[in-house]
Amino acid sequence: MENESLRDRTYQEIYNGDYLDNSQYMVVAVSLGVVHSLMEIFYIWVGCTPMIFINIISILIYVVSAMLIAKGRHLVTVWIMESEISWHVIFACMFMGLACGYHLWLFGTLSSVFLPFFIPNLSKRPKKQIGIYSLTIILGFELLVYLDRHGFLPTQFRADEQLASVLYYVNAALGFISIMIYTAIYNQRMTMKNKALQYVAEHDALTEIYNRYKIQNILEAEISRKVEGFGGKLSIAILDVDFFKKINDTYGHLAGDAVLKEITGCFRKYQENGLLYGRWGGEEFLLISPELISYDEFGKMLEEIRKCIESCEFTVGGQTIKATASIGAAAYESGLDLDKFLQIADDRLYRAKESGRNKVILD
Ligand code: GH3
Ligand code: MG
Ligand code: MG
Repeated sequence: MENESLRDRTYQEIYNGDYLDNSQYMVVAVSLGVVHSLMEIFYIWVGCTPMIFINIISILIYVVSAMLIAKGRHLVTVWIMESEISWHVIFACMFMGLACGYHLWLFGTLSSVFLPFFIPNLSKRPKKQIGIYSLTIILGFELLVYLDRHGFLPTQFRADEQLASVLYYVNAALGFISIMIYTAIYNQRMTMKNKALQYVAEHDALTEIYNRYKIQNILEAEISRKVEGFGGKLSIAILDVDFFKKINDTYGHLAGDAVLKEITGCFRKYQENGLLYGRWGGEEFLLISPELISYDEFGKMLEEIRKCIESCEFTVGGQTIKATASIGAAAYESGLDLDKFLQIADDRLYRAKESGRNKVILD
């Protein structure tokens, strides 16, 4: 049961795009608690008795919020804090009058409530809650203005014009600033999430190098550049580990995985020279030549990679495994599209396999 709720929470975080991390939530709760403590002094100073008591409840709410955040209950705490702000605004408007500008905070509250509405995959229930809450805030604002204009608010404390004016400016500024801070943090959070998603979409989970989607995109872009008459030299190679099935069968699938991971170390060395590479599938890798080197030089690089793999000793669970790889390469020629280009490299790989494996075939 505990595991289930933990899993639910994790999914909720992914789909709801949780706004802040734990320590940031704590900073928000503590800051708002401190602000309300200062407000307590202010309410006592101006002698607004109802707000003195209401504000004590607000302070207690932030104490509870901090405790919930410490337990990792973020979502419920966000709702509690947003509700507290809304209710505090409503009471402050009721008892101090709209001239003090507390209602302007509702713009900030609305932005924080409504922003997550458009998160993809947000389930119906939270969407409905957000919708209702947002509408309530807008209607609440209008109602407060209406009641104030018709003298229906039980305003107990009539701030003198100067104090009300200062409070209005301060509340307006804080309302605007809260919108800015909230949207900025929210955008930053979404950018981070998008980057994380992009990483996952473009990388292979086992070897952590580019996956087929990404390396194929790169190759397509490079071919387009060549077609348009730009770009440097372009050659590719397909590398396939020899008798990999046998490695799996002899040492186990996990050992096979470890070998695949280790092999990428032989490509990584050439990354700073401009070599691009990705996992094409299974035990096959696609390599794209650095822009500035000729096909001959690329051939030498491939030979070094082949030797690197051959000389590697993969130690898995105390056992030493050796592996070799066959490589078929092709240089770009005008008129080639992606499939034809790959086919040439693949045919040469096949020939490398047929003629004894552990070799590079360039033509
Ligand atoms: P050849 O020299 O002709 O390429 O022989 P091979 O055994 O390498 O080729 P084959 O296509 O018969 O077998 C490839 C094997 O690679 C089969 C498959 O189980 C294994 N394989 C594919 N992906 C993975 C993986 O991610 N991890 C592991 N451990 N094995 C994988
Ligand atoms: Mg294969
Ligand atoms: Mg193979």
